[in-house]
This record gives sequence, C-alpha cells and structure tokens, in this order.
Amino acid sequence: MIDEMRMDQMLTCDDVMRQLWDYLDAELTPDRMAAVAAHLSVCTRCYPQYDFERAFLKAVRAAQRDHPVSPTLRVRVQEALRAEGFPGI
Ligand SMILES: [Zn+2]
Repeated sequence: MIDEMRMDQMLTCDDVMRQLWDYLDAELTPDRMAAVAAHLSVCTRCYPQYDFERAFLKAVRAAQRDHPVSPTLRVRVQEALRAEGFPGI
C-alpha cells in the first residue's frame, strides 16, 4: 500500500543535487533537511556525491582558515581531500 503523503514528499535525485550545497550549509527548512537526509540515506547515486561535496567543503574551509590568500590553496585542498579518503584527486 502506497503512502501518498510520503510519495509526494519524496525528492528526486535532481531535487537533491540542486539543494545539496544548501543542505551542506544547513540553509534548508527543517522539512527539506529531513527529506534530503532521508533521500541520501537510501540513494546510492546521491550519497557519494554528498560525501564528496561535504569533504570538499570541509577541505576548502580548512585551507582558507590556514592560508586565506595562498597560491597553494589548490594543492592544500587536494591534500586535504586525499586525507579524507579521495586518493584519485
Ligand atoms: Zn538520489
């Protein structure tokens, strides 16, 4: 039996991708935050993207904090991403 309320609230992958940065910044409404979180917890297509962007954001912020105007920012971001477990970058 299909719960129509839940079906209406289900986000598509496109919805999630469009809102991913806002989600990472916690700028969505609580309902939206929950809907995106629910989607990410079950979607094998969106989760890796979320995981990557979350690590990327964290790495960029760490690099900005340590070296606000550094020409080596890119290298530092890459190093931080590798430290987060993204060896291919
Ligand atoms: Zn998805």
